[in-house]
Amino acid sequence: MSCVFCQIIDGSIPSKAIYQDDHCYAFADLKPQAPVHILIVPREHIPSIAHAQKEQKELLGHLQWAAAEIARAKGLAEGYRTVINTGSDGGQTVDHIHVHLLGGRPLTWPPG
Ligand code: AMP
Ligand code: ZN
Repeated sequence: MSCVFCQIIDGSIPSKAIYQDDHCYAFADLKPQAPVHILIVPREHIPSIAHAQKEQKELLGHLQWAAAEIARAKGLAEGYRTVINTGSDGGQTVDHIHVHLLGGRPLTWPPG
């Protein structure tokens, strides 16, 4: 399995664990773009949100719920942003769905 996030989930690539449950694993981004920058990934390998099937709708919602739980635990009371990059135009560089949770500073809009 060449997927870097599958290797993070199975522990063969080290990561800083933030949260985990039966459906997802969350860890610190290697190159943080904000004081808090956490990636939430499903344990199931799904290449992108464009590949997600109807049966995976609940899992997609679970990832966003987990992001909100982590944001609460991190005390991001002033707000935060969740981002899912999709495909090359969307800036996706790892082909395993992941939600970025960014916070701890004011974030500008629109993104680049
Ligand atoms: P994206 O560009 O949306 O596909 O996001 C991929 C993210 O994965 C980037 O923010 C990278 O910094 C992050 N990343 C890549 N490899 C690792 C790793 N081994 N551990 C933690 N984060 C990683
Ligand atoms: Zn994977």
